[in-house]
Amino acid sequence: MGEGKEKFIADTMMGEVARWLRILGYDVLYNRNYSDPQILRIAKASKRTIITRDRGLHVKAIKNKIKSIYIYSDKIEFRLAELASKARIDLEINPDKSRCPECNGVLVKTTNKESVKDRVPPGALQAYDKFYICIKCGKVYWEGSHWRNIKRIINDVKSIIKSKNNKIA
Ligand SMILES: [Zn+2]
Repeated sequence: MGEGKEKFIADTMMGEVARWLRILGYDVLYNRNYSDPQILRIAKASKRTIITRDRGLHVKAIKNKIKSIYIYSDKIEFRLAELASKARIDLEINPDKSRCPECNGVLVKTTNKESVKDRVPPGALQAYDKFYICIKCGKVYWEGSHWRNIKRIINDVKSIIKSKNNKIA
C-alpha cells in the first residue's frame, strides 16, 4: 500500500474521477463538502496533488507551490485520458491493489465466503471465489458484470491516449 504512489485530492466536480482513480489503486480524497481553502490546506499538509476543474483553485494551488492538475474534459473517458497523460497514471487495473471507490479505504482480499455471505447476494457468492472487503466501510466487491464495464472504459481511455499520441507524432 502507498509505496510511493502519487496521492490526490479531487475537487467537488471530480467525484467520478476520484472513484476511478481509487479503482486503479490510487489514494484519492474526495468530499463534496470540501471548500477550496480546505482542499488547499489538506493538499499541502498531506502532499497530495489537486485534481480540479476550477481555474481559480488551480491558480491558487500553483501560487502556493501545491501540485495541481487542471482537467478541462467533460466525459469521464476523456478526463481519465487527460489525467493519465498529465500525471502518469498507471492504467492497469489490479483488483488486489484497488481501493474502495466509495470511501478510499484499503481493500482486503478474502476467499472465505462465510465471512462475506451477509453482504453478497447468493448468486454472486456462488459464482465467485474471491471477494474484496473495504476495511473502512465494510463494503464487499467482486469481479462481477460491472468489472467488464470497468475494463471496457479503461480500454477506451487507452485508445483515446493512443490516438492523441498518433496525432502528435
Ligand atoms: Zn469503503
